[in-house]
Formats: sequence, structure tokens, C-alpha cells
Amino acid sequence: MTAGALHYLIVGGGLAGSLISLALGERARARVTLIERDGVLGGNHTWSFHDGDIERTDQEWLGDLVSCRWPRYRVEFPSGGRTIDSGYATIESSAFAPLIRARLLACGVSLLVDTAVTEVSATEIRLADGAVITGDVVIDARGPAVHAVSGRGGYQKFVGLELELSAEGPWDVPLLMDGLVPQEGGYRFIYVLPFSRTRVLIEDTVYADDPSLDGAASERAIDAYARSAGAQVARVLRRETGVLPLPAAADAPPASSFGRPLAVGYRGGFFHPVTGYSLPLAVRTARALAGVRTAAQAHAAVEALAATLEPQRRFGHLLNRLTFEALPPAARRGAFERFYRLPAPVIARFYASRSTVADRARILLGRPPAGISWRGLLSMCLPRSQQELS
Ligand SMILES: Cc1cc2nc3c(=O)[nH]c(=O)nc-3n(C[C@H](O)[C@H](O)[C@H](O)COP(=O)(O)OP(=O)(O)OC[C@H]3O[C@@H](n4cnc5c(N)ncnc54)[C@H](O)[C@@H]3O)c2cc1C
Repeated sequence: MTAGALHYLIVGGGLAGSLISLALGERARARVTLIERDGVLGGNHTWSFHDGDIERTDQEWLGDLVSCRWPRYRVEFPSGGRTIDSGYATIESSAFAPLIRARLLACGVSLLVDTAVTEVSATEIRLADGAVITGDVVIDARGPAVHAVSGRGGYQKFVGLELELSAEGPWDVPLLMDGLVPQEGGYRFIYVLPFSRTRVLIEDTVYADDPSLDGAASERAIDAYARSAGAQVARVLRRETGVLPLPAAADAPPASSFGRPLAVGYRGGFFHPVTGYSLPLAVRTARALAGVRTAAQAHAAVEALAATLEPQRRFGHLLNRLTFEALPPAARRGAFERFYRLPAPVIARFYASRSTVADRARILLGRPPAGISWRGLLSMCLPRSQQELS
């Protein structure tokens, strides 16, 4: 830590708060206090990303926090499957927690776990026991406000089981969407991550209008899916659930975040509106903050990143409006099926929140082989659509 360095108070030691603390501690040598409500950092998650989502230098910086990598992934739809030769990788929170804790302590970050924060302001936080801590910049990384969805968007709901298999299973690369499963409750698909031939995460996922989860039904569906694929399930190692709001609109950001806590991660809107992924944007935020020297620069850096992402966000909101308002649940799968027929670089840039104007036009208006035409839907419900492409 540098004498006279800014003191950051980071509230929430989940994905974004932990990575930003690490970047500030390791790269900027700043003074950092990270405050987490739970006993461990990171919670119970599996955070994945596409190779193109995170720049090479940042992937090197993440290092062994990334626990699994695959050279390609697959999708399955009624019209056929596709293998996409683009890398995919995962951070498992169970491995992340001890590794990041050790790196944070090594670079002098002060960790307060089992400590809930009740109030945050621009330079001060209040803990549940009434204590007040003052710093130069307060970063609010308290995660998604579950069940809050702006506009008439929807939800991506997951129930995941990490399974130990008693013999080698059939998967060797991730199956990001198996859309061949019965379409109940929205666009439903199964997501499979084979950490090894005998350890696999299977998630039942739905793009749905409502946030309610039926965990028992999803677990039955996962079990039946694994067995029908020929996997011999020995035991359930871990369960994971989530309900991610996928907004169709967002409040206009304040003219300046200065004078308020700096919201990052899901809390600050730094997630992909369609996929719900936030890991790539947490890494970009961490890098942006690592280069600043004053509180004003910290706010300006995060605002600049938000401004860069704004066209991508508006495009994502438009797609969510189309998915959740214009398409009946039974027709949603066709939109994803068509998306996965696009050229691999267009898909990769979409995931990376780096779609070009041409990509966005292609995603919306390209030839619709599956009979789902966004063009017709656009003219029905979105007169501002062309504006949102720019
Ligand atoms: C099941 C699931 C799977 C996902 N998979 C992916 C994926 O593959 N790839 C991807 O990029 N994204 C994924 N996401 C989305 C997103 O990346 C995660 O939700 C991610 O954890 C969000 O990061 P965050 O730091 O904003 O919030 P979180 O990781 O939720 O962290 C918030 C932290 O703040 C703490 N906290 C909350 N309130 C307080 C308080 N008052 N005081 C102190 N601490 C507090 C919480 O305990 C928590 O540790 C997934 C989400 C879910 C739910």
C-alpha cells in the first residue's frame, strides 16, 4: 500500500467486490477494506465466461482463480446442434474463496467478514453493530436486488446440481444450451459444465416472466436429463440456485455519481442484460479502477465504462422487450436457435458486450431461418428500434 493512497471501503465480497478489491490492492497498491456479510467471499456460484469476453492480460491476472477451461462449447436445438470453436472458462466459488482471500491478504487488503453493512454513503458506512467507518471512496458491490426488474423484462432462473458420476459421463465440452428439453414456463434449456468426466454441473434454466422457482421439479428434471444422457449419478455434491432479473429498460443514470456510493457489479448495472453474465464487466471495472489516483477519477472511470456500455445495454433491453413482451413463451426458443446460427464472431462479440452496429442489425434483422422474425415484431411494438441500433 502506498502512503497517502486512497482508502476504499468496498461493501460486498461477492464477485465484483472481491475482484475490484484485488485489483486495487495488487495493481494500484491502494488502501482497501472489504466488508462481507457472510463468512466467506464469493458465496455459492459458478461464474463462467467466453474466452473473448476478457482480455488476455486480465485473464493472466485472474490466474488460478479460473478453475476450468475448455477449447469449445456446444448448443443443441430442434434444427440441429452446433460446436462453436471458442474457448469457455469457469471460476468456481468454492476454489475462488480461499485463493482470493490469500491474494487479498498478501497485498494488504483488510477483510471484515461476517459483517453486515446497514448504511452506505459516498465516504462512510455503518455496520450492523452501529460502528461507522470512513474512507475516501465507498464502493457498493452488494449484488443484485432480487426480483426487481425494470420495464417489462423477465427473469433467468436456474437450479443447478453438481454431480459426481460413478463412471465417465458423455460430456467433454460445455453444453451451453440444450434446447431439446420440453418447453415449460418460458424458454427452457439445460446447461452442462463437465469439470471432469466424472464431475459435472447440470442446470435447469428458464427465461421466464415470473421469478418463482420450483426447486424440486427442476432437480427431478436434471436427474432425468442426466440419466437419459447415459450418466450414472453417484451423488449430489452441491446445489446452486439463482433468479437474475433481465431488465427491458433502465432508469437514466444520474448526471454524476460523485457524492454517492459508487455502485458496481450487478448493483451498478454492470451485467449483460440478456445473458445475466457479470464476470467480464466486473473484470473491466476492476481494471478501470486500478488506474485512478483520486476519488473523482474513480467515479469518472466507472461512469466512462458505463457510458461505453450504454449502447450494448440499450440493445440488450430491446432484445428483452422483444423476448418477454412480443414473443409468447412457446416461441422464445426459436429466437435463441436463430441467434446460434449466426457467425461465431458475432456471437462472441455479443457475449463480450462488444457488438458492432452491424452485429446488432444482423442479430435483429438477419434472415430468420427458424420462422421467428424480429423485424415483424419490431414494427409491431418498437417504433424506436432503429434509434436503438446506433
Ligand atoms: C446461479 C447463478 C449463476 C450465474 N452464472 C454466471 C456465469 O456463469 N457467468 C457470469 O458472468 N455471471 C453469472 N451469474 C451472474 C452474476 O455474475 C452473479 O450473480 C455475480 O455473483 C454477481 O456479482 P456481484 O458481485 O454483483 O454480486 P454477488 O456476487 O452476489 O455479491 C454480492 C455480495 O454482497 C454481500 N452483501 C449483500 N448485502 C450486504 C450487506 N448489507 N453487507 C455486507 N455484504 C453484503 C453478499 O453476501 C455477497 O457476497 C450467475 C448468477 C447466478 C445467481
